[in-house]
Amino acid sequence: MQKIKNYIGGKLVEPSNGQYLDNYNPAIGSVYSLIPDSTSKDVELAVKAAEKASEAWANTPAKERSDIMSKIADLIQRDLDKLAQAESIDNGKPLKLAKRVDIPRAVDNFSFFATAILHFSSEAHSMEGIALNYTLREPIGVVGCISPWNLPLYLFTWKIAPAIAAGNCVVAKPSEVTPMTAYLLSELCIEAGLPEGVLNIVHGLGPKVGSAMTKHKKIKAISFTGGTKTGEEIARVAAPMFKKLSLELGGKNPNIIFADCDYDKMLKTTIHSSFANQGQICLCGSRIFIERPIYDKFKEDFVKKVKQLIVGDPDGDKTNLGAVVSEAHMNKVLSYIKLAEEEGGTILAGGKRKILDGKHKDGWFIEPTIIEGLSYDCRTNQEEIFGPVVTIMPFDTEEEVLKYANSTEYGLAATIWTEDLSKAHRVADLVESGIVWVNCWLVRDLRTPFGGMKNSGVGREGGFEALRFFTEPKNICVKWA
Ligand code: NDP
Repeated sequence: MQKIKNYIGGKLVEPSNGQYLDNYNPAIGSVYSLIPDSTSKDVELAVKAAEKASEAWANTPAKERSDIMSKIADLIQRDLDKLAQAESIDNGKPLKLAKRVDIPRAVDNFSFFATAILHFSSEAHSMEGIALNYTLREPIGVVGCISPWNLPLYLFTWKIAPAIAAGNCVVAKPSEVTPMTAYLLSELCIEAGLPEGVLNIVHGLGPKVGSAMTKHKKIKAISFTGGTKTGEEIARVAAPMFKKLSLELGGKNPNIIFADCDYDKMLKTTIHSSFANQGQICLCGSRIFIERPIYDKFKEDFVKKVKQLIVGDPDGDKTNLGAVVSEAHMNKVLSYIKLAEEEGGTILAGGKRKILDGKHKDGWFIEPTIIEGLSYDCRTNQEEIFGPVVTIMPFDTEEEVLKYANSTEYGLAATIWTEDLSKAHRVADLVESGIVWVNCWLVRDLRTPFGGMKNSGVGREGGFEALRFFTEPKNICVKWA
């Protein structure tokens, strides 16, 4: 059975305790590889390697850093099919989704930040006749990146690329549930000639490896994407150590549909924004609010189309939804469907585990599920489910829908459908959300600030925001003679 290795000091190494954890293929429901069960000792080795590389990498001209990162982007592109297959097996997502979205985005993350660093500049402020201020942006040193399982390589590289572009050395931990593409990336970094110690990948459990990273005094900043509870724990440990923190956390995103929308476009996109990646994208819209005049029509069309979605073999050309990521996650999602029924909801589509035939008979699949008849403030509509489950609700006024939309503790993303430009701007302005899409969903410009309000996070990723996070500003004030 394949053994994944840590990547420390430029080498692929076994965990220091020699212990491994099982890594599952969720579409089959069985173990297919082993992942290091690393400990704080491995984190220590990774930090030492990063520290050793730190000064040389910080002093490497941006153009040279950029060239190596572009090489890594080219190698990911070269291996796109292999990486997409690995991502699909590890995560359960449809292969065609990994080919179209996950791996191309990992290429873009490296190439975007490889060039962004060449355009990154610092500010100067002149105090007329008195002094000149200029602000240097220096690398922080050793930084930590911790990422989740839903978009494994996509989100892992979204953190690593700006960190190393800015001249930092990184200790990174992918999710223990989906480690494979991070491991394959370490092989590509070696092939690309990334200097030893610039990127170190330690595999293992959050409470062991992630927590050792958060506690480590020499790791000066943590960029984390994952659940709000984990983010809370990281902030509790890191804040008294005055670490820089970027936290991208959970969401419970509203999808606001007005009667005057472009109906066909809205319906097609709403199916994607509800069920793409089995609903396991932090940006999926899980609470769908529909203006009353079109509620019945929407309900009928949406239910009909969702019942036609194919849940099945992630390799299948026609598959729309693959497996959810793990048995524990499947059970969590199913428990929320049960809760929705207890809260008085009616299941209009799905609602159950999907049992497939043949080699997928033990896989962890869930039918795409639509629930109606719940109040906006019940638990099902307030807590993040992070699976193929959406609720639908009618509304009559803008005021009412904004009250519903803004009622959760989260504020990550919102989608608004209307052809009325003034209404679109008005509602976008009032919705409490770090990201708002009007008449579209998941259209991403990597230069824009990415992140959430309220309990969906602290700080923003993307573009120069990420490069600012991964640098320390130093202002120098020179008095005129
Ligand atoms: P978790 O918070 O469970 O895990 C995220 C990462 O943190 C994993 O690598 C995990 O390791 C690690 N971790 C767990 N415990 C600790 C700890 N005590 N200290 C340090 N690290 C730890 O999230 P999931 O992986 O379940 O991902 C799903 C969540 O991510 C959802 O809430 C989703 O909304 C959110 N998310 C947010 C996004 C955003 O941009 N805002 C984007 C994508 C997802 P291990 O896997 O071993 O537990």
